[in-house]
Amino acid sequence: MKQQLPVQKNEQLQVTIEDLTHEGAGVAKVKGYTLFVPKALPGEVVDIKVIKTNKGYGFARLLEVKERSEHRAEPSCPIYNQCGGCQIQHLSYEAQLLAKQKQVKDVLERIGGIKDIPVHPTLGMNDPWRYRNKAQVPIGEEGGLVIAGFYQERSHRIIDTEECLIQHEDNDHIIRTVKKIANKHRIRAYDEEKHRGTLRHVVARKGKITEEVMVVLVTRGKELPSKKAIVEEILAEVPNVKSIVQNINPKRTNVIFGEETNVLWGDEYIYDYIGDIKFAISARSFYQVNPEQTKVLYDKALEYANLTGEETVIDAYCGIGTISLFLAQRAKHVYGVEIVPDAIADAKRNAELNGFTNVDFAVGEAEKIMPWWYAQGVRADVVVVDPPRKGCDEELLDTILSMKPKRVVYVSCNPATLARDLKILEAGGYLTKEVQPVDMFPHSTHVECVAQLTLI
Ligand code: SAH
Repeated sequence: MKQQLPVQKNEQLQVTIEDLTHEGAGVAKVKGYTLFVPKALPGEVVDIKVIKTNKGYGFARLLEVKERSEHRAEPSCPIYNQCGGCQIQHLSYEAQLLAKQKQVKDVLERIGGIKDIPVHPTLGMNDPWRYRNKAQVPIGEEGGLVIAGFYQERSHRIIDTEECLIQHEDNDHIIRTVKKIANKHRIRAYDEEKHRGTLRHVVARKGKITEEVMVVLVTRGKELPSKKAIVEEILAEVPNVKSIVQNINPKRTNVIFGEETNVLWGDEYIYDYIGDIKFAISARSFYQVNPEQTKVLYDKALEYANLTGEETVIDAYCGIGTISLFLAQRAKHVYGVEIVPDAIADAKRNAELNGFTNVDFAVGEAEKIMPWWYAQGVRADVVVVDPPRKGCDEELLDTILSMKPKRVVYVSCNPATLARDLKILEAGGYLTKEVQPVDMFPHSTHVECVAQLTLI
């Protein structure tokens, strides 16, 4: 017989929210049964409607807040509830920073068994809005007009949007301008079901320091009607444009970019700085989207690396070499490794652009290249890792344990895998000294942190 749960689907009830999940949902307990309530905050008394029940836990919709949390904020964005791009705009920014610090602390202790070390207050932004330097927006049609916006949560319906409050204003302006120009020239939006039409995405990139602008039109085929007029009108309406390119993506896919990129006007690259280092950014280059906080993060990584100029440093998972070049300012030699060949091509170009001769970049899996370097006699004094969400491969951690660098600096975008990996490094003779969370994505639940480990 099916066991009766304490709550039933569609039941309405009043609960008190006890906690906040890492995804930003409120947590309530009803006779020991856990209910997740998106958009409800700890301490609040709320009316809810149960919408789904599993064996161990269920989900409910927030109907009304009866007793408000003092940390509740009015979301500034008019489409906050439909978009899903931000998850915690309804929480004050100060409380977001505290929640992120707490998340890191909790996870380190629960998964890594690491406690009694300083997890510092999250380094946040003075102005946590308009921070993104890149917008990539899908194009659709509604009532015969081109629209541009975002996909409604869990759907492929595009909602026409004029602005995004975490996006640089100029990127919003570019998207609006291209939309207007596309309508004027009757450019058809790509229809993903029929695989017809022309314009798939518009991507806008902006150099935070240089203010240089790139506009990317992603089309299904080579053909783009009224190309010349479109370029002229973009130039007339958007200040500081340095590059207008067309990327061709003929595939049935939700991946934005295709393989072929052609310059329509200007240069293939725009440039930007993080600190004193200049970076070339092409249409498809990976480049951190919050440059202001990237500087904060890298400065912390550099501080934790504690370099004197005499050290050999390895930067594993180096991307386009951003951290590597930061380190190269203060190290004798830096080795960077990254799996994406295009990123390494960018890394080499960036090293040259800045006149660094003390860096070497390799393409490959960090967990294969590190042991190979080790076998070649490379000995790093400091190893920096910045892996994707799944964390470091065990083979890589084993190589660190054999190579015995004095310090390891671990830059992480996922506290859970950070905790798992720190536990392995601690078992192998390292001590986690301190952890610094940095808020790279205000109003989202993402948390980035840097940890410093030393060899005991
Ligand atoms: N340090 C860079 C990029 C960090 S993102 C920066 O701050 O900009 C993580 C990077 O790891 C990505 O560029 C991804 O392509 C790369 N990557 C993923 N798996 C990898 C592996 N097994 N070996 C090497 N690099 C890998």
